[in-house]
Amino acid sequence: MSHSAPRSVLQTHEVSNQPTPREGHDLWQSDAILRLHAKSAPEADMAAFGAELGTAEMRQAGRLANKHNPELVSFDRSGRRLDEVRFHPAYHQLMQAGLSRGIAAAAWDGAEAGHVQHAAMTYMMSQVEPGVTCPMVMTYASVPALAANERIAAAWAPKLTARGYDNRVAPITAKSAATLGMAMTEKQGGSDVRANTTRAVRDGEGYRLRGHKWFCSAPMSDGFLTLAQAKGGLTCFLVPRWLEGERNSIQIMRLKDKLGNRANASSEIEYHDAYAERLGEEGQGVKTIIEMVHHTRLSTAVAPAGLMRGALDEAVWWCTHRSAFQRRLIDQPLMQQVLADMVLDQEGTTALAMHMARAFDANDKGFGRIGVALAKYLGNKLCPGFVYEAMECLGGAGYTEETPMPLYYREAPLNSIWEGSGNVICLDILRTLARDAEAGAALRTELEAAKGGSAAYDSALAAHEARFPKLCEEREARQFAESLASLLTASVLLRHAPDAVAQAYAATRLGSGGGRSYGTAGFGDVSAILERVRA
Ligand SMILES: Cc1cc2nc3c(=O)[nH]c(=O)nc-3n(C[C@H](O)[C@H](O)[C@H](O)COP(=O)(O)OP(=O)(O)OC[C@H]3O[C@@H](n4cnc5c(N)ncnc54)[C@H](O)[C@@H]3O)c2cc1C
Repeated sequence: MSHSAPRSVLQTHEVSNQPTPREGHDLWQSDAILRLHAKSAPEADMAAFGAELGTAEMRQAGRLANKHNPELVSFDRSGRRLDEVRFHPAYHQLMQAGLSRGIAAAAWDGAEAGHVQHAAMTYMMSQVEPGVTCPMVMTYASVPALAANERIAAAWAPKLTARGYDNRVAPITAKSAATLGMAMTEKQGGSDVRANTTRAVRDGEGYRLRGHKWFCSAPMSDGFLTLAQAKGGLTCFLVPRWLEGERNSIQIMRLKDKLGNRANASSEIEYHDAYAERLGEEGQGVKTIIEMVHHTRLSTAVAPAGLMRGALDEAVWWCTHRSAFQRRLIDQPLMQQVLADMVLDQEGTTALAMHMARAFDANDKGFGRIGVALAKYLGNKLCPGFVYEAMECLGGAGYTEETPMPLYYREAPLNSIWEGSGNVICLDILRTLARDAEAGAALRTELEAAKGGSAAYDSALAAHEARFPKLCEEREARQFAESLASLLTASVLLRHAPDAVAQAYAATRLGSGGGRSYGTAGFGDVSAILERVRA
């Protein structure tokens, strides 16, 4: 049979007015907002990380790690249990980049402004591939909780803060570096961990754990801080994944099929009389593990700032290089209103998150406890709507997987859900202020410090105090938390950000200036605000 000759390819159109991908740009140098609010971190270290993460190679690693999801390998070919998770090499590349530069270590190994370093690195990594930050953040956050047991801390802390990545499946004594996860949530109770049913029974120096965990992220970590019921009540344990010479009896039942956060493995696990060591006293489990949760909360307050930055950066890039109706989008008055409005929330979220990282560096425990909850609450409530709006700036292209917008969008709700979901955080804020005079006083000092800088701020603070002379009813906790978090953000901006941003934030987020969607604030001249993000 003869084939007819192929018809020549017809030239139907020329490709124009399609911005090239935004890559190969330095995530530190190009971000004036991050550089301002994280300026206590050593410039050279942050610049090196930002330059490395911004390369086309690392951007590609982010895409690959997100696309090729982890796989559970339950058995070897002979039917013996393996319980391992296999990742794409790009995942390991990103883990190596973050851990070797100190994302988990800087806060603990004597580095200057270590918590701000951790926060700035988490923010930058969130733009490249947010899922991989989960195991790195948990490793960072686990270190202070280990202090409850000197012997465990001496064995584990040096490996967790080793500024390296060793992903071999082996006991930690044989490894140069280690990571830790946490296993609290069970089917019948996540926020309410006191409903945990996993049992811990003494066995010589250690314990044996039997039960399930409904969510356990990064199940290939070298160990898990776990809550289980011992004789004396809910207790915190370190469960190593490997014992000398054998696997600990932890079975990975399945991996979760998640909306986003896809590079990260999250699993359901079972402890089959798994060996565990106790951290802290029996019955003191919540008190012990809260040290870890407190630090993961800082990262969950930082992550939305990073996601918002990634999305806004794409939007500004697109609008700078695309025209519609004979004018660049960035020059269109209505698009400028939308972008400027978004800049305020991105800089506000970044400023507050980095301010909290500085409080951690200063060991300001009272302010740390209350401020981190306020920052986590507000930043994460804004993030999904913000990312959607940035997506729309790209028009139809923003809805396609060839841009990072779907990745950011799928990730956007997560940091509100874990480490204390919205309502739980609001109730925590009430509890902290009711019980912890030091936290209340520190928050008052922070709010007072910005008085006199903006009329809108002063009257909003007075209105908040008039409405809530003490604390509020439980049902009002979201109004209370949102109001306080917005005031605190404005206070930080008034003290640490350019006046144009701080005044506009106070006028539109605290006063009656803003509407319910981006672009309705009704600014006059937006050039100084847009200057914050112009390429
Ligand atoms: C991707 C992913 C990874 C995770 N990884 C881990 C992990 O590694 N380790 C781990 O231990 N857990 C992990 N979790 C679990 C997560 O921390 C919990 O899902 C979360 O704490 C909420 O618990 P829950 O799902 O049981 O919801 P619930 O506790 O049932 O809460 C449901 C809703 O009720 C609200 N609520 C609860 N109490 C009150 C109240 N008193 N008043 C008003 N509202 C209330 C909550 O805010 C929430 O909106 C992960 C979750 C996800 C999605």
